[in-house]
Amino acid sequence: MATKIMTMGEILVEIMAQDVGQSFRQPGVLLGPYASGAPAIFIDQVAKMGVPAGVIGCVGEDDFGHLNAQRLAADGVDVSSIHFLPDATTGSAFVTYRHDGNRDFVFNITNSASARLTLAHVTPEALADCAHFHVMGSSLFSASIVEAMKQAVDVVKRQGGSVSFDPNIRKEMLGSSAMRDALRYFLTRADVFLPSGPELTMLVDAETEAQAIDELLDLGVQAVVIKRGAQGASYADRQQRLDVAPLAVTELDPTGAGDCFGGAFVACRFMGMSAGEALAHANAAGAMAVTRRGPMEGTHSLAQLREVLVQAQAGGAQ
Ligand code: ATP
Ligand code: MG
Repeated sequence: MATKIMTMGEILVEIMAQDVGQSFRQPGVLLGPYASGAPAIFIDQVAKMGVPAGVIGCVGEDDFGHLNAQRLAADGVDVSSIHFLPDATTGSAFVTYRHDGNRDFVFNITNSASARLTLAHVTPEALADCAHFHVMGSSLFSASIVEAMKQAVDVVKRQGGSVSFDPNIRKEMLGSSAMRDALRYFLTRADVFLPSGPELTMLVDAETEAQAIDELLDLGVQAVVIKRGAQGASYADRQQRLDVAPLAVTELDPTGAGDCFGGAFVACRFMGMSAGEALAHANAAGAMAVTRRGPMEGTHSLAQLREVLVQAQAGGAQ
């Protein structure tokens, strides 16, 4: 019987500037490498919740690749479908933080091992245990990856599994009509849709939040979960609309909050929690993620998230 939550896509290291306001136009102190990649962070959070988890992806046969595989395995992720390519380099992202809270990235992803993912990696064995598959929009940066992702979704759906989709849209992706079509492909096959703020209306005709939710539910999406950064999050299905207030935390590094939120939400529903309980745990996972430096350093176990929720009820989040 299929028992696992799986995802597929970029597995990277992140290297960050030590100080806010630091620029990559001059030498400076850097921190890292940290394990990263949106699907990798998502699946690490799933595994930390105690749910069987696996990831399909490509890294180079180098220290950055091994750092990621070791870290994911240590947190309980099945890494048997991470492929080490001898002639490619593990992807990387270099980050600086501006004083206004925005971040600037230097990505090496499209030329990295992550870009080598193809249909050939989507084998029946790799997905045999998969009961739920998560699509991260940021992974869809080449036609061959889109093709592989479509195959993965179709296989999992055929074997009776469910699908979640976080558009995680990079602005430059919407310029291409092929990419828009691909994003719509996953949207129309998603049981759970997890947009962040403005992403809610990016792939539909509707312009208001309420209309967008109705349009998405009419498309066949079962549940819409809206991430609102420091404003908390919301949930909507045919029966109910729920809002959760943000937990009061000190934001140290926002990278990865959405991925931790998504991993926690999907894992909680997979374990049988109600939508309201899953939303509360996901909200806590996202809040805790921003309190740690490093994109994957902020993943937390179910017991830790429960404790955060208990503390928040008692009057303080940290
Ligand atoms: P990213 O793609 O950068 O990982 P995102 O835009 O997908 O992030 P966010 O909306 O920033 O995701 O964060 C996800 C969730 O985490 C929010 O909906 C909220 O529940 C929680 N969260 C994020 N930032 C904060 C914060 N500063 N304070 C409290 N909760 C937060
Ligand atoms: Mg996001």
